Amino acid sequence: MSVETMTLERAQQLLQTYYGYPDFRDGQKKIVLSLLEGNDTLGIMPTGGGKSICYQIPALMLPGLTLVVSPLISLMKDQVDALTAMGIQAAYINSTLSGKEVNERIRAARRGELKLLYVAPERLEVDWFRDEMGNLSISCVAVDEAHCVSQWGHDFRTSYLAVAPFVQSLPQRPIVAAFTATATPEVTEDMVRLLRLEEPEVFVTGLSRDNLAMSVLRGENKREFVLKYAAAHSHQPGIIYAATRKDVDDLYERLRSAGIASGRYHAGMTDEERAASQEAFLYDDIRVMVATNAFGMGIDKSNVRYVIHFNMPKNMEAYIQEAGRAGRDGEPSQCILLFSAQDIMTQKFLIEQNPQDGDRKANDYRKLQQMVDYCYTTRCLRSAMLDYFGEEHEDKSCGICSSCTDERELTDMTIDAQKIFSCIHRMRERFGISMVASVLKGSRNKKVLQYRFDGLSTYGTMADRTEKEISEIINVMVSEGYLMLSEGQYPVLKLQPLAAEVLKGQRRVMQRMPAKSAEETIGARSRSGRKHDYSQSAVNETIFEQLRLIRRELAGREHVPS
Ligand code: ADP
Ligand code: MG
Ligand code: ZN
Repeated sequence: MSVETMTLERAQQLLQTYYGYPDFRDGQKKIVLSLLEGNDTLGIMPTGGGKSICYQIPALMLPGLTLVVSPLISLMKDQVDALTAMGIQAAYINSTLSGKEVNERIRAARRGELKLLYVAPERLEVDWFRDEMGNLSISCVAVDEAHCVSQWGHDFRTSYLAVAPFVQSLPQRPIVAAFTATATPEVTEDMVRLLRLEEPEVFVTGLSRDNLAMSVLRGENKREFVLKYAAAHSHQPGIIYAATRKDVDDLYERLRSAGIASGRYHAGMTDEERAASQEAFLYDDIRVMVATNAFGMGIDKSNVRYVIHFNMPKNMEAYIQEAGRAGRDGEPSQCILLFSAQDIMTQKFLIEQNPQDGDRKANDYRKLQQMVDYCYTTRCLRSAMLDYFGEEHEDKSCGICSSCTDERELTDMTIDAQKIFSCIHRMRERFGISMVASVLKGSRNKKVLQYRFDGLSTYGTMADRTEKEISEIINVMVSEGYLMLSEGQYPVLKLQPLAAEVLKGQRRVMQRMPAKSAEETIGARSRSGRKHDYSQSAVNETIFEQLRLIRRELAGREHVPS
């Protein structure tokens, strides 16, 4: 029998004995073995994937102590209680303890009575603590929620930068293990660099959670939707995320008046209020938690049946982290994002409010646009998500997301697309969505008239639609890669090679339009909703004339976007 097989058997035995689980999950096995071989290891696994066991089992098998760096004091107690209940020697040290209690735990560690010690990253900056740790035999430092070390992530914590110097200060370098659910290249690079991982083994597993049905709903009356949905699912645990405290409070009040057992969570509440609220949710005293993104990091509640986003989050990482709190038990669950164009304004405002350098700002805007693209895509949402995170996957539809279950037929949008693209071309690719939409609408708006766009031959070619509809279509075209928005606060529409193909008549645009309404998408799918047959749209004579001209111009150009 090879050493590896023996190690694995022993690990499996411990898993069975302590946790009562018959086998490791995908990914866990590799991470456990990598650590036991003594490698620095980076484990990237979705929320609920089972990262804790990846360092807890090695902790039982390695000599000495495993120090766990964990960001939330509120969760340490739960985690440690769970471990001690299973008979594993574990403790935590944090600011909720008295000096006497801290000393007791340090002494226990000295006597070799602890396998796992949980601390917050701030603790690593404390001199006496560092000295104490230097006297112990530490085999492994496990960094949980390791993306907190990166400013590219969504929960940057300065004190995570103290991990690497702390590790270096130890007389003997332990194995460093880092865990997160955030998988983007920038964050991965930062974790390796800032935690100073040495030749790390990196394992990325399964962001795709087949039990999650992803939906994006545009054009909803959001408040009404939330109330109706929560009422219809009042027997199931759910989380509703809103961007502001004001919205949290408002939704919370409404849900309560509607007789739905709900709680709330945001940074404006006291620690006690938040802890009470969290506990009520964990123990099912309340069904619905209305919260800002302050709620949830590391929370292990497995039976959350739905996560509704009242607002679009700032980027895909944040979205997946939050939405991923649904269905950790593997049962079918819903992740619903309620999108409105106002959400984009809010996020831009927040980016502008945040003092930071130009690069970072540009990055925030880029990520925001990727989030918006997700909201407007008509592709399978799961595929879109996996593509974003660069995870390889079969090229097939999930069958359960709001794109896959959209029963409205595809309509031929080619003519609308051509009108839009020629307008952008005529306006020399120097304007943003709302201006282009106003021109196509034929708006009498002063700004439009002032630029003399009324003399433009594409002016008013889409007068049969509202400006909002036109903006929607443009956004879909951006999301589908026909158009690009330049970076920055006032993005400008640029034509992409795909748009050139459409203008040249080499490609047809098939879409489901306009925005679906919630009743159509969720639940009453059979109802014949309002349908708009766009292929019947009045075709403006001038557009053909336009197209002929543009095609001729394009023929002389190498490629369209400059
Ligand atoms: P993460 O930190 O990745 O979000 P956790 O470590 O909190 O996830 O684990 C999520 C849940 O999955 C926990 O309830 C845990 O007990 C369970 N779990 C982990 N590994 C296994 C396994 N091999 N078999 C069954 N359940 C597991
Ligand atoms: Mg965790
Ligand atoms: Zn799908």
